[in-house]
Amino acid sequence: MDMARIGATPGGGVGRLALTELDREARDLFVRWCRETGCAIRIDRMGNIFARRPGSENERAPVMTGSHLDTQPLGGKFDGIYGVLAGLEVVRTLNDADVHTGAPIDIVNWTDEEGVRFGSGTLASAVFSGLCPLNDALARTDLDGNTFGAELERIGYAGAEPVGGYPVAAFFEAHIEQGPILEAEGKTVGVVLGAQGQRCFKVTVTGEEGHAGTLPMERRRDALVGAARMIDALNAIAFRHEPHPVITVGALKVRPNSRNTIPGQVVFSIDSRHPDNALLAAIATEMQQGCRRIAGDMQLDLDFEQISERATNVFDDRCVASIRDAAERLGITHRDIYSGAGHDACNLTHYAPTGMIFVPCEDGISHNEKENARAEDLVAGCDVLLHVMLEHAEVA
Ligand SMILES: [Zn+2]
Repeated sequence: MDMARIGATPGGGVGRLALTELDREARDLFVRWCRETGCAIRIDRMGNIFARRPGSENERAPVMTGSHLDTQPLGGKFDGIYGVLAGLEVVRTLNDADVHTGAPIDIVNWTDEEGVRFGSGTLASAVFSGLCPLNDALARTDLDGNTFGAELERIGYAGAEPVGGYPVAAFFEAHIEQGPILEAEGKTVGVVLGAQGQRCFKVTVTGEEGHAGTLPMERRRDALVGAARMIDALNAIAFRHEPHPVITVGALKVRPNSRNTIPGQVVFSIDSRHPDNALLAAIATEMQQGCRRIAGDMQLDLDFEQISERATNVFDDRCVASIRDAAERLGITHRDIYSGAGHDACNLTHYAPTGMIFVPCEDGISHNEKENARAEDLVAGCDVLLHVMLEHAEVA
């Protein structure tokens, strides 16, 4: 709640965009809190902040946890922030209990997870994980033409350390679910198996324009009626598979978009997501065939083009198992779950064994000032995080 004062919005949320004055304030507070626990601070060239609690064997690779302190313009108090402060709480608890680990523990704040200003989410963890070149990231500009690199300098967080390039024993991220499943099922912890894959398409349906008053119904090639049937068919495809993929048609362009002209062309988008890459490929074929059939029946032309593809992220088996076992041992209700959203942890799967812990949020609402989570759920998630960190860093 102290962190949420920085950038507090009138609606009870937080607006704290990456590399702004508010981001600087949040970082300063985080660094102060970490120093108070005895952690040493390192900052890399992407502004990622690492707070290290030494282990008894400091040549060992660190066990890392964290998330992000930046938010959406009208974001909440918990998305990202929870994961960073849960890491801090793990370190405070180890200090209070005078427990020492073999491997060092790093708490990380990843720079610019939200991607609002510079147009690319989870940017700094992508550089860390070797998925994006450092210079490309530093050269990105916001709408006012400020570069990421210059803004990082301006707020005083352009560190000297190289980005990544050293071994990490394991990475764990605690995060609110940002969806309704845990709350609906009365489960406290989500054991995240991975993040679902995504395929996006651009569909162009072409018929023929005509006068809305003079062209008889049976002679029309109405592209919008065709698109409407396709959209309904796409929605039905989602319900034919278990567990349901999510299929969304969210953007539509109608030509000429005139009240009294029969629509001659419609371009619409499809966003499809599912945890299973094979099923995602299968429904892509199914969607295309479904649209072709309707186009054929209605004498419409169809262009069905895939415009992007992101494969499913799978988290490390041992990390996943240790999260599930810790919840079980602690008597915390849990279920396996897939992340619908992307996270820094998804990038880290390319770098180190990675796991993720979800806790419920109220009504599944996130990226919203109303975002809320219950203290007891946040505590339970943090408790699971503590135990998996201890297991991987090993009590000295
Ligand atoms: Zn987040």
